[in-house]
Amino acid sequence: MTNFTGPSWDLSAVYSGPTDPGIDEDLNAFSRLLDRLESTDQRLLKLLPRIGALEPEELSCGVAHAREAFQLINDAETLLRNVARFASCLLSVDGQDDEAHKLQGRLEAHWTRLHELQAPLTQILDRAADAFVEDFLASDSTRAATFSVTHSRSRRHKLLPLAQETLVSALSQDGVHAWGRLYTQLSGTLQCTVQANGTTRDVGLAEAASLTQDASDSVRKDAWKAINRAWNAHIDTCAAAINAISGWRLELCKRRSHEQEVHFLDAPAHASHIDRRTLDALMATAWEAAPLARRAATAMARACRKQRIGPWDQRAPAPDLGGDSSRIAFDAGLDLVAGAYGEVHPQLGDFVRMMADRNWIEGAVKPRKSPGAYCTSFPKSRAPRVYMTYSGSRSDLTVLAHELGHAFHHWTMRDLPDSQRDCGMSLAETASTFGEAITRDALFQLAATPEQQLAVAWEDCAAIVGFLLNIPTRFEFERNFYERRADRPLLPDELKDLMCDAWLKWYGDALEEPDPMFWAGKLHFYISSISFYNFPYLFGFLFSCAVHLQRQAWGGDFFARWRALLRDTGRMTAEDLASKHLDTDIREPAFWKGVVRSLENRVRRFERIVTDVVG
Ligand SMILES: [Zn+2]
Repeated sequence: MTNFTGPSWDLSAVYSGPTDPGIDEDLNAFSRLLDRLESTDQRLLKLLPRIGALEPEELSCGVAHAREAFQLINDAETLLRNVARFASCLLSVDGQDDEAHKLQGRLEAHWTRLHELQAPLTQILDRAADAFVEDFLASDSTRAATFSVTHSRSRRHKLLPLAQETLVSALSQDGVHAWGRLYTQLSGTLQCTVQANGTTRDVGLAEAASLTQDASDSVRKDAWKAINRAWNAHIDTCAAAINAISGWRLELCKRRSHEQEVHFLDAPAHASHIDRRTLDALMATAWEAAPLARRAATAMARACRKQRIGPWDQRAPAPDLGGDSSRIAFDAGLDLVAGAYGEVHPQLGDFVRMMADRNWIEGAVKPRKSPGAYCTSFPKSRAPRVYMTYSGSRSDLTVLAHELGHAFHHWTMRDLPDSQRDCGMSLAETASTFGEAITRDALFQLAATPEQQLAVAWEDCAAIVGFLLNIPTRFEFERNFYERRADRPLLPDELKDLMCDAWLKWYGDALEEPDPMFWAGKLHFYISSISFYNFPYLFGFLFSCAVHLQRQAWGGDFFARWRALLRDTGRMTAEDLASKHLDTDIREPAFWKGVVRSLENRVRRFERIVTDVVG
């Protein structure tokens, strides 16, 4: 019998298990580093109140302490993250691994201490005069951090007096973050009553959500309704949480506007390493592209022999029209991805094989694994790992190709200093989305019948609808909500209305009915550390399409230029990156419009196949 499922990964090169003595050694070394940091911090804290105007002799001494703190934080973070990632990898594979839970629990106090002791250096570098920072960055050990330090300083106008910043950060634990935690707890306990095989049963949210990926229209619709009923029972709690989280942020924006107006979109754009003008250009282009994306949605509905798609169809698989729905065994799937990557450049194909040969991919089907997929890398060795559950479906193959793209991105940056490896959400999806696209191309080449082609092209259009209609719907709701929330908290019914308006505006005629409860059920609106966790997905999708378009133009240089672009993702803004590597200005709508135009062929191809197959 063919074994379709993926392999188990090998983590033994990191630690042998959750009780490996090496973990205690690393955590002890971490604590010793933090003890040293604590005394360095004492000296920094003395300078902090006058940091903008230091005497020359204080300046050189302050710079020396700051460099020391920088190195200690860097080394300590490497150790703690190494252990933390190991614990979370173990827990993904087995959610009931008690030793791994204990280990993760032990780390909490270490994280709190690290965050507290990091704060003085961040404050110093944000508040100091330019001369101090230039001096700080002028050494071999700190020069690499130039982008991360200057990027952070670009928003120093919004800083509050030191005592107020400290107070805000202390109060936020039981303030804004508590609302986020409340939401997570609620979603973990929610029960949804679903119908299956003529019987009614209560399932958790994760299981109900997996039913929204079912091949049957009625199963998906029923699961969607069940999820919405479950959230509706807690609608006042959700409204209280979302009003409190946004209210907290708006109040902070108001208080931070002492020098210049601080808008609620400034922080999420900054966190994504993009300019507000880039965000405007991106969203304006999405709006112009809405008719094209609606065509894709309507063609998807036609493929399912219905007129319009419903909100329960967001994760619907391609309809089974007698095409090849057989599963692809892991080894064959890996060959296919390696082949697709290898066609771009042999080294890319070799990389995929190396990931498998070294057992760096977790793909087994096991009962206690968590759903979802991710790529992580261990800070000490810089070696990546891919996590997923592979059971042979086409979408599993796409996920594998996606996560291997992330792994390649990590691998390409593995020799860079830590301060250059954080690329912000908007650029983080560049390599992964690219890997997905080239694998879909390869699958399309292999599709022998129109039915098989339809199944592959379906994924193309699902991506276009997801990124160009669903993501903007979320953005539209969130922006309109923040604008109205500035006056007063919104009632649950008002939130529903606002949500429906956003669905109807973007999906138009392509939609069967709007989803009034989407705001309550979507975790992204309740992440307390970051707002507008939506537009970076759209950015990442279109930006990776733009790179894909360069394949012909760059010809034989493609691989080298692609790798050079990826290596720069953590050390410049997205605008500078695009200017340097693509010779383009992403603040201009023209760039985004060009990318959107290239999607038209994919939609037209799908429409043609649907007409051939369904009529
Ligand atoms: Zn991803």
